[in-house]
Amino acid sequence: MRIGAHVDPAEPLAEAAARGADLIQFFLTDPQAWTDPKDRADAEAIRTAEIDVYVHAPYRINVASSNNRIRIPSRKLLFSHAAGAAQVGAKGLIVHGGHVEKADGLDAGFDNWRKTFAYAAEQGGFATPVLIENTAGGDNACARRFDNLARLWDAIGDYEVGFCLDTCHAHAGGEDLLDIVDRVKAITGRIDLIHANNSRDGFDSGRDRHDNMTSGEIDPELIVAVIRAAGAPALVETPGGAEGQGADINYLRERLA
Ligand SMILES: [Zn+2]
Repeated sequence: MRIGAHVDPAEPLAEAAARGADLIQFFLTDPQAWTDPKDRADAEAIRTAEIDVYVHAPYRINVASSNNRIRIPSRKLLFSHAAGAAQVGAKGLIVHGGHVEKADGLDAGFDNWRKTFAYAAEQGGFATPVLIENTAGGDNACARRFDNLARLWDAIGDYEVGFCLDTCHAHAGGEDLLDIVDRVKAITGRIDLIHANNSRDGFDSGRDRHDNMTSGEIDPELIVAVIRAAGAPALVETPGGAEGQGADINYLRERLA
């Protein structure tokens, strides 16, 4: 089982070494900004490194939105980050499922997702495989509750699209972690990556606050069981820097061995 961490983008290979990570994820830009990635001087070093690399897209991206002034720049940003992620040899570009402004807008939101992948397919596909991640909060989210996730996949499942399962988001979003892997795979057919996070908040709280393995509201053995059942690489997006994340990685490795 390959286990890693979300790290600071300044020196991601050094951060990986400091944690003993098999894989890393990082942002190419400020995650709160509408900024295209710049060329990185260390792109070749990252691309040729032993560790596997994933890139997390900016939080701003919401291709489901009915608002043109959000949806269109979101789509552009997703494309530019897929290109930037390819430069560092990323195996996946993780993007949140997004949301719509009103509950009755969900069908249009799923169709906006479909149009994004249809447009990408016309251009020869995304430069990096896109992995849609489940989210924790909001009433009109495309990928919080799995009834909506199923409707999303009805719209986009014919395209090449992957899935990233976040354990904190599932718990806080109101989806039980027991047998979650089977329930996800019944919808998406695949889990490409696990975001292995504990949660500072309770079940169905709708709050997105990650915690270290042994200090959150989720029984950490349940997180281990999810990774084992999925058989997918996992990375922690937890607090505490190299020390806190390194302890989380060790906790998971010991139990998955
Ligand atoms: Zn996550």
